[in-house]
Amino acid sequence: MNKIKLIYEGKAKKVYETDDSTLAIFEYKDSLTAFNAQKKDTMQGKGRLTNLISATFLKLLQDKGIPTHFVKLLDDNHQLVKRLKIIPLEVVVRNTSTGSLCKRLGVEEGLDLVPPLVEFYLKNDELGDPLVTEDHIRAFGFASKPQVEKMKELSLKVNEILHKFLSKKGIKLVDFKLEFGMDDEGNIFVADEISPDTCRFWDMTSKERLDKDRFRKDLGNVLEAYEEIWRRIADWEKSCSAEYRANILVYLKEGVLDTQGKAVLSSLYSLGYDEVKNVRVGKYIKITLTSPSQEDAASRIKEMCEDLLVNDLIEEYSFELEEI
Ligand code: 5GP
Repeated sequence: MNKIKLIYEGKAKKVYETDDSTLAIFEYKDSLTAFNAQKKDTMQGKGRLTNLISATFLKLLQDKGIPTHFVKLLDDNHQLVKRLKIIPLEVVVRNTSTGSLCKRLGVEEGLDLVPPLVEFYLKNDELGDPLVTEDHIRAFGFASKPQVEKMKELSLKVNEILHKFLSKKGIKLVDFKLEFGMDDEGNIFVADEISPDTCRFWDMTSKERLDKDRFRKDLGNVLEAYEEIWRRIADWEKSCSAEYRANILVYLKEGVLDTQGKAVLSSLYSLGYDEVKNVRVGKYIKITLTSPSQEDAASRIKEMCEDLLVNDLIEEYSFELEEI
């Protein structure tokens, strides 16, 4: 998959058109911005970390049944994603009071918010992404009522999945921002990124900030904090990988001359098995592999069949997968 044309350049990413009109390539940049880009810096290696962290979270969510735009990781700074029409809203979920919530309402920082708060912000840099109510969204058509309901439902599910996952890694998920997009059929997907740039992560015991607040508040060691998040979650795929066995059957397409089948048929006749009508000879291939999910294993086996195991001019295949 190749980058064809730059479609959009944002503060932290570039988005490219590809040779498939339904897919785009995200390039994660090394730049860091805060307060609507009034504060800027560049940190070498930051794009790699946000790319890898975001890919891991999006894969985890996908594995748990959340539709996301993520297709696959291409390299350290690039990932392939579905091309979507972005809904012009940011959805923020908060488990703990901090940031703009405390500033806006004058409430104490660090309060547990149970149930979590879900807020909508209008994506508009000129206006500084203002908070909007569901009535504003409806009145000005920023999204439909079913879309708002779906975004809320998905955001709370994402919160549950990430909260549970991160707790095991000693990380408190304080709050985060999501964006959503639609495909041509109107299906809603989690889009954009999920990383220390878009979430607040606190170390569970020391309460040390492991996210962009280190940059916003000049706390130093920004890259080290992002590295620490990556270090704690990087083994996710390995730790949840299972072993699968694929039983693959490769056989000649109907109508293709099967000389081996003919030879077996004539031997059977010569031994007196006259009731046999037809014989087709195929091959049976057993492959054992590790994979993070059954879906992923099936897609890898399909790729293997198409790349190497089947001559698609004359052969067809089918396979069954079992978890060992
Ligand atoms: P707050 O509203 O407290 O500034 O942010 C709440 C959460 O959403 C934080 O995790 C913050 O990183 C994220 N967030 C809110 N708006 C934006 C935004 O425009 N860009 C990014 N990268 N994150 C945001």
